[in-house]
Amino acid sequence: MTKKECSLHFLPAGQGDCFVIQFQDNSLNYHNILIDGGNRKALEFKKQKKQLLKIIEHGKKGRFDLVVVTHSDDDHIKGILNLVADDEIESYVDEYWFNSEKTIAKLIGKPFKKTQKYPVNKHLKGAVKSSRQQDYDLYSILENNKKWNQKVITDAVVADVNGLKINVLSPSIDKLQSLNNYWPTQSLKKGAIESSGKCEFDYDLSIEELKMKLPYFEQDESKVNGGSIAFLIEYHDFKWLFLSDSHPDIIVENLRKLLPVGGSQLKLDVIKLSHHGSKKNTSDDLLGLIESQNFVVSANANKIHCHPHKEALVRVLDHVGIEKTNFFFVNKNKDIERIFAKSPSIKTHYPNSKEEGVIFIYEY
Ligand SMILES: [Zn+2]
Repeated sequence: MTKKECSLHFLPAGQGDCFVIQFQDNSLNYHNILIDGGNRKALEFKKQKKQLLKIIEHGKKGRFDLVVVTHSDDDHIKGILNLVADDEIESYVDEYWFNSEKTIAKLIGKPFKKTQKYPVNKHLKGAVKSSRQQDYDLYSILENNKKWNQKVITDAVVADVNGLKINVLSPSIDKLQSLNNYWPTQSLKKGAIESSGKCEFDYDLSIEELKMKLPYFEQDESKVNGGSIAFLIEYHDFKWLFLSDSHPDIIVENLRKLLPVGGSQLKLDVIKLSHHGSKKNTSDDLLGLIESQNFVVSANANKIHCHPHKEALVRVLDHVGIEKTNFFFVNKNKDIERIFAKSPSIKTHYPNSKEEGVIFIYEY
């Protein structure tokens, strides 16, 4: 019998997410799902585009059956805004999933009551556009595109993409409700926010020191992150968890429903840690529900977010054990490398190629 293959590509995308799942159907035809576009600027997007076209071999290895915009933060949506503006790569897309402010408001039944009028400013340079502004930009571009049916994706959705099953775990209606209340409080006036926050790396703290912090878990309160589309993918015998920047409480609630009869853990091949390895998005409850050895960390340790937090990685080690844990870092730099520099027994993996990122290839 002819062997089939599938692969996961975690592309370097600055501090953000940009992933491709490539798989074959029963007739051996290739299919691809793109999850987010990272926050690459126009010039960097050219490299990203090249990489995406290389993965699908300009159509010889299928099209993008589905493009998922998990949420509207810059580090996920910006690359998609570049993609939809690029006729060549956009022509390979068949369908979009995107929960915009407008479609969420419509679903919840409160259309735009408190919503400001949106000024679209397409010529903004320098500053980071607000998530709300980018949400509206993408809405405006996709509004008349038949590839987007405007359906809001919630945790009630189970989808089949040519034999690949997507169990959506987030967002719940509650999370969307919170997001819908939050959006109108965000200014669109200048169309931009300056990234002013500073953070501190916890990389110089030892594993033992960080273990003392583990009992004090505080969940991420970002409404935009809480609206993230996150899912479990089942394909052939493989299970992959793509968590975007989701909140762990809703993932736990929905994963419990998917546990095997009589079982207390779900066996997974790969987990993309939520929110770039932030300490507020990976809880003990979540780790208690899963059995896996491979954890992908999509972060570049920049000085605005300081992601990943070593504390989150230590929480993973605490559950899974040093022997069994593999961390796959999508970016390699001095700060990422110093996280476990003093703990050589911890298995850390980096991309073979700077442009290709982390790749998992399966043959079966
Ligand atoms: Zn993010």
